[in-house]
Amino acid sequence: MSRHPSDGLARVTEAIANACARSGRDPGSVELVAASKTVPVEVLTEAIMAGHRVFGENRVQEANGKWPELRAAHPDVELHLIGPLQSNKAGQAVELFDVIHSVDRVSLCAALARQCELKSRWPELFVQVNTGMEAQKAGVAPEDADAFVKSCRQDFGLNVTGLMCIPPPDRPPAPHFELLAGLAERSGLSSMSMGMSGDYELAVEYGATHVRVGSAIFGARPPMGPA
Ligand SMILES: *Cc1c(COP(=O)(O)O)cnc(C)c1O
Repeated sequence: MSRHPSDGLARVTEAIANACARSGRDPGSVELVAASKTVPVEVLTEAIMAGHRVFGENRVQEANGKWPELRAAHPDVELHLIGPLQSNKAGQAVELFDVIHSVDRVSLCAALARQCELKSRWPELFVQVNTGMEAQKAGVAPEDADAFVKSCRQDFGLNVTGLMCIPPPDRPPAPHFELLAGLAERSGLSSMSMGMSGDYELAVEYGATHVRVGSAIFGARPPMGPA
């Protein structure tokens, strides 16, 4: 794992700017979410010192161990949950995160709505769409996305602002980015969380507003256990 995330951050930021130039987009319209699962606090501190402010974590428990102190020291940091969320961790998630990318079922909506009221905090929420219809992957089916977004808003009063997808790793991502962009437009959602280290430039060309980039910034990760 790289000890100096500033190099990776600079490289990825430049590649995003180039992708924006190719597609006639304002580079300010793309948020680089530095995916920092398994990255230790010392390295995160370096990234913050290098000027980066937006980070994404996969697990509530890991984030709770790393971020409360860092955030107290750097209140302008924005923290995103990019991994799956269990309903029984909704309260912790609402307290800790500014944006949650993985809303994908009614039971979670109910838990989030309750916790948002309880804690008087309304993080921005993205609905995860399983664009590849993979059995093992989280997310609502593409054909259910419109109705699910509507229900999040009308039945639960949730602050849904975008959609998120993780294309199947072994297939070309472009059709998935295109599908997500179409769904977002139909639902009147302005944010799209798509693109990782291998494909974030392409995702920007397809309209991503949030790219989640880990290893291209921090270097290769040790293998993870099950989420
Ligand atoms: C780890 C992770 C990323 C970043 O992956 P890289 O390939 O290292 O850029 C993005 N999104 C999610 C949901 C992740 O879990």
